[in-house]
Amino acid sequence: MTFLPFYGINVSENSTYEGDDMNKIKLIYEGKAKKVYETDDPTLAIFEYKDSLTAFNAQKKDTMQGKGRFTNLISATFLKLLQDKGIPTHFVKLIDDNHQLVKRLKIIPLEVVVRNTSTGSLCKRLGVEEGLDLVPPLVEFYLKNDELGDPLVTEDHIRAFCFASKPQVEKMKELSLKVNDILSKYLYERGIKLVDFKLEFGTDEEGNIYVADEISPDTCRFWDLSSKERLDKDRFRKDLGNVLEAYEEIWRRIGQPKAAIQKHYEARLFIYLKEGVLDTQGKTVLSSLHSLNYPEVQDVRVGKYLKITLNSPSHQEAEFKVKKMCEDLLVNDLIEEYAFELEEI
Ligand code: C5P
Repeated sequence: MTFLPFYGINVSENSTYEGDDMNKIKLIYEGKAKKVYETDDPTLAIFEYKDSLTAFNAQKKDTMQGKGRFTNLISATFLKLLQDKGIPTHFVKLIDDNHQLVKRLKIIPLEVVVRNTSTGSLCKRLGVEEGLDLVPPLVEFYLKNDELGDPLVTEDHIRAFCFASKPQVEKMKELSLKVNDILSKYLYERGIKLVDFKLEFGTDEEGNIYVADEISPDTCRFWDLSSKERLDKDRFRKDLGNVLEAYEEIWRRIGQPKAAIQKHYEARLFIYLKEGVLDTQGKTVLSSLHSLNYPEVQDVRVGKYLKITLNSPSHQEAEFKVKKMCEDLLVNDLIEEYAFELEEI
């Protein structure tokens, strides 16, 4: 038995799906990375994630044993997370390593791509540099049409050819940006930058819109936050090697609690002599000021000013660290006192 850490359910290794709580299964669609089965409930379908990898509209193909398991588990994790945050998705439940139960929907023939960083086809199309931060993020629509190579379409194209209605376009945009916020934050906390991703949407009988299809390293770009190492299908597209290892790394990280995020703080520290301690430097400055004809100056105390920048997961911890630095080294507590201002930068 394999234990799936995120869902805490047991599934049998090498399992072939035998129907779970549904028994009549008919293959209704086979795509590049998935098979879709009808179930005896007309409102539900079963997605089987395959081990095949394709790129450049299936001109490049390969099979990697175990890939389908990662795309299934990662996708289930993200869809469940989104659902928990109030985003309607087609996800119903994880069945086993390679299968998940989903709502049957009428798919809107558009792919929505959200980009936080310039790369991929955006750079090729516009000749812009890779790695630029896109704030606010870009939202693009592509027509789902393999024969045409999924061309980029404008909202006017969508309206003119009725690929989707105006309210549907608005809803898809709104949901895509919300998905971006949720996933970007979740991934950032696990050391991953969500560079870009593709979503598909579908409608139920009542016309409600749901996020459909998958969200995985096959459909997103994930970069390691510090090294910028690619942890997605670009490893396959660009022959970078270790494709399966990258997918496994994403699965490993998203199954983990968030890492403590380091914030940056600036401490402005003032150190001065205690009352009653003779300040010889202060006395020298005072007599110089008097000789320069500033008789109104009553007293001068000379102190030190230090500006310290530091990383810390919280304001409280940064405050504790600055106090400790003062006590350990910076302040002579027999003769000196200190005060500081602390600000997140
Ligand atoms: O290739 P491009 O830069 O346009 O891809 C943008 C994002 O959309 C990438 O994360 C890519 O994996 C995803 N995508 C996809 N399916 C497509 C086209 C792009 O999942 N047909």
